[in-house]
Amino acid sequence: MNVVIYARYSDSKQREESIEAQLKVCHAYAESKGYTVIREYIDRALSGRSDDRPQFQLMIKHSERKQFQKVLVYKLDRFSRDEYDPAIYKAQLRKNGVKVESATENIPDNSFGILIEALISGNNASYSVELREKVKRNLELNAEKCLSNGGTTPLGYKLVRLNPNEEKSKKKYVINEETAPTVQEVFTKYANGWSIKEICDSLNARGLKSAQRAAFNKSSLHTMLCNRKYLGIYIYDGIEIPGGMPQIIDEDLFNKVAEKMKLNKKNPGRARAKAEYILTTKLFCGYCKEKMVGHSSNQISKKGIIFNYYKCKNSGRNKPCKKKMVHKDYIEDIIIMECRKLLTPENISRIAKEVVKIAQSFDDRSALHRLESLIQKAQEEKENQMTSLRACKDDTIREMIFEDLGRIGAEIKELEKQIEIEKERHYVVTEQQVVDHLKSLADGDIKDITYRKSLIRLFVNKIFLYDDKFTITFNTGDEEVTITEVMLSEIEEELSGNSLCFLKNKVHQ
Ligand SMILES: [Zn+2]
Repeated sequence: MNVVIYARYSDSKQREESIEAQLKVCHAYAESKGYTVIREYIDRALSGRSDDRPQFQLMIKHSERKQFQKVLVYKLDRFSRDEYDPAIYKAQLRKNGVKVESATENIPDNSFGILIEALISGNNASYSVELREKVKRNLELNAEKCLSNGGTTPLGYKLVRLNPNEEKSKKKYVINEETAPTVQEVFTKYANGWSIKEICDSLNARGLKSAQRAAFNKSSLHTMLCNRKYLGIYIYDGIEIPGGMPQIIDEDLFNKVAEKMKLNKKNPGRARAKAEYILTTKLFCGYCKEKMVGHSSNQISKKGIIFNYYKCKNSGRNKPCKKKMVHKDYIEDIIIMECRKLLTPENISRIAKEVVKIAQSFDDRSALHRLESLIQKAQEEKENQMTSLRACKDDTIREMIFEDLGRIGAEIKELEKQIEIEKERHYVVTEQQVVDHLKSLADGDIKDITYRKSLIRLFVNKIFLYDDKFTITFNTGDEEVTITEVMLSEIEEELSGNSLCFLKNKVHQ
């Protein structure tokens, strides 16, 4: 079987195996399995957004040529960046007959494996209350000192080093005396009835620049007028800490602007919030089995609601499939409720048991074994070279042997370092931990997008959607569930109690 290896070394926020070690272990693994490695793809120290991984993208592209059947990775977290990446890329690879395989983790290659991988891969994209708490505490610490957490600095602020003598010192927000007046001007003008376009023109005519150091446009001004940081609120990733920033706009003015914006909202030209189609890669047309994809209608209701749908890729003008479109929130809500139903105490305890069983099989520490056998090999080679050296009289050859010995010595040192890193890892997952995690998922906030995504990513394997029913398979090994129209309306009632807004099977066109 032909395989390729994908290795990645990230910004080293934590200690991790070097590219060389990842490659070595993958090659050793391939050898033990009888695979032929036809190519390596390596991304070194890149910041982590998927488009920053050129070799990864290349590997995905090359998979279309169908010259290899597997992608080997040192650990599965080398493959995934965030929670959506893996599903999408794995689906792409699967289409080309390619599977992803970890050289060091025994995760079963079935739907249950997806669940386990998500739960124990240590990938912090997984919804974890504990993690959020930790992040929050860090942010609070940063906020106390008005420290930057990265990202664009809003106009009106600047960053100064906390410790001026230290180049890598943390930075804190202070008012930028040069640009803060512009922010005040924008708010005041808007509150006094200027249009966004008029304000834009006025600022650009004077050559003033936005936070991105570019000319102002509608979108940058809109962002500014909505930015509650100007009230002195430190905001990061959904967490808000009042008083965590220096204040630029007082509350009266800010509220006045907010009121005005609400009134002007009827204007459909304003930037739309981009809908996230969380069922992408999981939702299929029941009739033609094609993927169902996100589709946003151009129509906007009087109330300013934009209609978002999933539609079969094979449907539409001049396309054969007659599957009707389905309202996005409607179908997503139903699937979410089905996932929650899955999380009964009995099911939770069953899943936890299975997860722990598999986690324990990690304890054979195959990565460690492989590294140790590599060291052993290197040491044998060293011995052999030493023997040759003792027998050798030719100076040129002796020189070459010395060089070899140097290389082997460095290799052994490197491997020893990797083993140390590997030993620090702990794969111990207790049943209670998994139970707690799943319990937290059972009563998460149904409107929280992160929560919704986690539920679907973890539990949903595949959904086939018909016009009057759908079938859903879960990652938990539970039996396929078919939901018919009668059940749909029951769920609807349940949902309306949660005041979720969706249109009743509203079909566009
Ligand atoms: Zn179809």
